[in-house]
Amino acid sequence: MHVVLMGYKKRVPRLRPAPESSRFSQQGEADVASSSDRSPEPETQASRRKFIRLSGLALGAARLSASSPALAVEPIEPAAVESSSRAASDPEAVLKLLLEGNKRFASGNATHPRRKPEDFAPLAEGQAPMAIILGCADSRVSPELVFDQGVGDLFVVRVAGNVVSAAGAAIKGSIEFAVAELGARLIIVLGHGACGAVKAAVEHIDANDVLPGAIRELVDLIRPAALAARGKPGDKLENAIEANVMRGVDRIKTLDPILSEYVKKGEVKVVGAVYELRTGLVKVLG
Ligand SMILES: [Zn+2]
Repeated sequence: MHVVLMGYKKRVPRLRPAPESSRFSQQGEADVASSSDRSPEPETQASRRKFIRLSGLALGAARLSASSPALAVEPIEPAAVESSSRAASDPEAVLKLLLEGNKRFASGNATHPRRKPEDFAPLAEGQAPMAIILGCADSRVSPELVFDQGVGDLFVVRVAGNVVSAAGAAIKGSIEFAVAELGARLIIVLGHGACGAVKAAVEHIDANDVLPGAIRELVDLIRPAALAARGKPGDKLENAIEANVMRGVDRIKTLDPILSEYVKKGEVKVVGAVYELRTGLVKVLG
């Protein structure tokens, strides 16, 4: 199902995947690879990423001419791209790729891909992010850094406490847009350790006090998660952080009429995860 939004009718060039036998070979791949692609990136990771990107998730190589031996450019409507490739619609492959990027980041081996003019200039034609990250606004949890990705790779929605339920149209509509119009098929709700917003909710309940301004309304959105985590074994704040993430996951999965349909059909995967500040590692919750 597609929702065509007003004003989003610009035709953009998309890559059509070449036959399997030639997809990873010859100068077609050399052309599409950025300078950072050629550097220290492990071959298996690089190949997997290229596979996903060349299969329809990337516009970064739209500059390629139709005469390329491995790839051809054909103009199609943005809302119709996801059916063009099996790999492009495989959220498991995207999740694996992002977790590999996180391991590089956490181990100090980040490759910092796709952030040079030759990478971002072609993206002016359009975007096809491989995943949606709903994360906290916390300054220590920047998704492109955490997953070692570049421009055009991630559709990032950030709000303190990574709230979804009752967070309003801006949050939900952004996610729906990225799925229905941009073709993203993986949604990660990304919480993090020592989250100040969740901590405020936990402490606010304990102290039964009143917070000033809109902070109170924001923290109130996290209260149900803090309450749900109460009395459970383990660290109270960590439990509340995980409960808050999973509440977001559950809400996104049931968000009618757009996201619930994609989830029901198995076309979109929604996962919860928590970023650990000290280690830099992302733990997938489910
Ligand atoms: Zn936070």
